[in-house]
Amino acid sequence: MNQDYEKLMGCWERQMALSTALTLFSWDSETLAPPQADENTAKVVGILADQAFEATVNEEVKQLLERLSDAGDLDDSQKACVRKMKEDYEQTAAIPREENRAYSELLAKSAGIWAKAKKHNDFESFLPVLKKVISYQKKFAGCWQKEGDSLYDTLLDHYEKGFRSSDLDRFFGKLKEEIVPLLKQVTAKNDRIDKAYNSRRYPVEKQREFNHFLAEYVGMDFERCVIAESEHPFTTSLHNKDVRITTHYYENDLESAIFSTIHETGHTLYELGIADDLTQTPVGTAVSMGMHESQSRFFENIIGRSRAFWEPVYGRLQELFSEQLGDVSLDDFIRGINKAVPGPVRTEADELTYCLHIMIRYEIEKKLINEDMDLAGLPGLWKKLYEEYLGITPKNDSEGVLQDIHWAQGSIGYFPTYALGNAYSAQIYHTMCSRMDVEQLLREGNLEPIREFLRTNIHCHGYKKTAREILRDVTGEEFNPQYYIDYLKEKYTKLYSL
Ligand code: ZN
Repeated sequence: MNQDYEKLMGCWERQMALSTALTLFSWDSETLAPPQADENTAKVVGILADQAFEATVNEEVKQLLERLSDAGDLDDSQKACVRKMKEDYEQTAAIPREENRAYSELLAKSAGIWAKAKKHNDFESFLPVLKKVISYQKKFAGCWQKEGDSLYDTLLDHYEKGFRSSDLDRFFGKLKEEIVPLLKQVTAKNDRIDKAYNSRRYPVEKQREFNHFLAEYVGMDFERCVIAESEHPFTTSLHNKDVRITTHYYENDLESAIFSTIHETGHTLYELGIADDLTQTPVGTAVSMGMHESQSRFFENIIGRSRAFWEPVYGRLQELFSEQLGDVSLDDFIRGINKAVPGPVRTEADELTYCLHIMIRYEIEKKLINEDMDLAGLPGLWKKLYEEYLGITPKNDSEGVLQDIHWAQGSIGYFPTYALGNAYSAQIYHTMCSRMDVEQLLREGNLEPIREFLRTNIHCHGYKKTAREILRDVTGEEFNPQYYIDYLKEKYTKLYSL
């Protein structure tokens, strides 16, 4: 083996170990850590982050990367690892070390401050920390910015390589043009669907039992995965043998945990599917946030809200909650879980309105980053856009501007990947249906061929290809959001007999 490459991998292992420890701290602070832990833990996290920075950006790594960038004796995987480490190096080296440390300490505390602010409907208490996060994000974007890109383009590129505001303006423009009128037709007929069953009382203990079954049914392997509970459901991966998800149970909302569990299990399958020889290497990660979200949304919506999926499963749910669901037929249940009602909360949104929630965040983020917006006006702008696109007004900031954890975590430019993920998933589904009878497989309760298709075409490649390449190799064409729009139109026209 090339000796420089071997040395570089030695450096990588140190980086990997430190970043795994940081990931574990972040998981812990959102699940099990006691409320007063934040302040002292932030100190530990700051030191580890500083070490991780030092392990990523140093003279040895710099020289090895320079020597290896035109080495002729590397195989494709090795070349991909060098390429990825170079990207990380350049991105990290652009940020002064002290700034990086201070920023990590800020983020270690900000999620806790956000959670309290949301709980007490107190935007004012979150405002100072949000101001700091945004100012760091602008500064970092300025360090990474390429000629011709706006600051926001730079942040977008961080999560979804090769996508600019101009691509997203076109994509959201299309959604506005075709989906908003469809939503109006649908809401006019909403009294046809009764889903009162969903807000009956469902004891949490029984929900927990069903959701564990459901996660396993969709493909979660409890030898390699765990489920915990947190305010906002999410997935964390340490490597392909330790993937963790969270969910949140509400006693008077059956659907919430069910669809967040299926969603996060979709993310889990991606992480579990990364090939053994790639995991814990520089390219042992998912290719992009959009592709990640395409997997979760595929299982949550295209699979998880279909009649065929529930045919073999609904009886079990009905049996567990015989009092609450005894009088609800499978068809009523399917209509209920697909009902489209504009509401204030993104994570509870149906398939049809979901992307409109993203569109609002996209418009706000562009202002936050590209313009000098006064952040005190944020709750007002939020309400105004909800009225404009969804025709509703959030009753307070907890269910308005404070609902998502993302900005508190410094994830700005991340939201649009949710919308892209939806579009990818419909395009991939179109191809999958040309290769196998997906509905029939679901009716038989046989999800393995579906998982296998995703594993071999998407998951196993890790970061060796780009998202655009994966999409092209799987579907035979470039990114095309029309599949998503057609999918929604067909589904909702049928469901509401429009
Ligand atoms: Zn997700």
